[in-house]
Amino acid sequence: MTDTPRFHQHYQSQATQHPEQMDAFWMPFSANRQFKQKPRLLASAEGMYYKTTDGREILDGTGGLWCCNAGHGRRRIIDAVQQQIATLDFAPTFQMGHPLPFILAERLAEIAPAGLNKVFFTNSGSESVDTALKIAIAYHRARGEGQRTRLIGREKGYHGVGFGGISVGGLPNNRKWYGPGLPGVDHLRHTLDIGRNGFNRGLPQHGLELAEDLERLVALHDASTIAAVIIEPISGSAGVILPPEGYLKRIREICDKYGILLIFDEVITGYGRVGKAFAAQRFGVTPDLITTAKGLSNGSVPMGAVFVRDRVHEAFMSGPEHMIDLFHGYTYSGHPLACAAALATLDIYAEENLFEKAIELESYWEDGLHALKGLPNVVDIRNFGLIGAIELASRQGQPGSRAYDVFSNCFHEKDALIRVTGDVIALSPPLILEKQHIDALFSRIADAIRETD
Ligand code: PMP
Repeated sequence: MTDTPRFHQHYQSQATQHPEQMDAFWMPFSANRQFKQKPRLLASAEGMYYKTTDGREILDGTGGLWCCNAGHGRRRIIDAVQQQIATLDFAPTFQMGHPLPFILAERLAEIAPAGLNKVFFTNSGSESVDTALKIAIAYHRARGEGQRTRLIGREKGYHGVGFGGISVGGLPNNRKWYGPGLPGVDHLRHTLDIGRNGFNRGLPQHGLELAEDLERLVALHDASTIAAVIIEPISGSAGVILPPEGYLKRIREICDKYGILLIFDEVITGYGRVGKAFAAQRFGVTPDLITTAKGLSNGSVPMGAVFVRDRVHEAFMSGPEHMIDLFHGYTYSGHPLACAAALATLDIYAEENLFEKAIELESYWEDGLHALKGLPNVVDIRNFGLIGAIELASRQGQPGSRAYDVFSNCFHEKDALIRVTGDVIALSPPLILEKQHIDALFSRIADAIRETD
């Protein structure tokens, strides 16, 4: 404990100098060269705001990275993690256990869709996705259908960075840089259709027929070879693509017809983002597995969880005794600190009714967002729950560059944190936000859009 002040003094004061001039850190996903010219360094965070190393307060329009649903610097989470690390810092994850993941899994089963009462812990969204894909394939083998190994994702889908995730994902960049990925993977078309659904509020009215792509792939590959379909109910990284009215229900029906497992990747939609614990509940469609991470621990300690339908789990438990139930896990599955953070996070969500609050604010959010229609270069606006997207026209020959300029202007001049993905500004604020934050966020974004050519 006596080391704590020393740590802060020592390292935080170094961090306020010029870390961007240090050379050893290979930044994830960032254009390092660009970052070094105009660094964006965060030093601390509380409530709806980040503070930069030069002392500016930045309004958080992205919940960190779709993680910090309860806002920043929550005392309850801090206390839980501090107490836990002082009590039990680590426990081996197999042939051994500690109480917290058992307790946490019970709590999670309470908020999960009915029938998904088994929880497998991971450390990230990517790990949750690979875990779910492996469970799906192994489930069919455990039932004597080992030939069902094919996986189906969607074009533009994002399922993290593991080889399973990039294979079922549909980002061309991953194929370009990392090769073809897993064999035996196919893709449905995505559902973005600005031509027919542009500036629609809530779910798109057109595009239900795209669900029939699954029938087409079943006809092509034969159902007996297909293990699972994985879908983001609302995709974020592809630029916030919403499911057309009835689309997810139709996908569920086709999966049921052919004994194919349905996986919802709820890494960004889980834990209240759309006004229920999971988008599955909001859409009234129950998948067989749900992958989650991010909001599970409010972004504070890395953690992911895969929810599994009871009957899928049962297929593993009813095999011969000498069989290992699922040959899969991580050194840090159900890590004591992550469990402590997640339990404290779930307490906050429940006590502050944050999921319900998202529903209450949804129409105010929607009105504020759609008021940006008519600004220069805005070609579409999309919203659902406390998610928003503003799509800008591409600059000729430089896709994404205009949105990036808006993002950079927001951060450096307007003190607002937004996210860009391609030509889309994606918004996912902490669920603790108030109307005044919504007003401030949209007014700053509007000014930044006006100032960008
Ligand atoms: N799935 C989806 C839908 C995501 O949006 C993300 C991350 N944004 C991931 C998986 C991967 O999560 P992580 O970065 O924690 O590995």
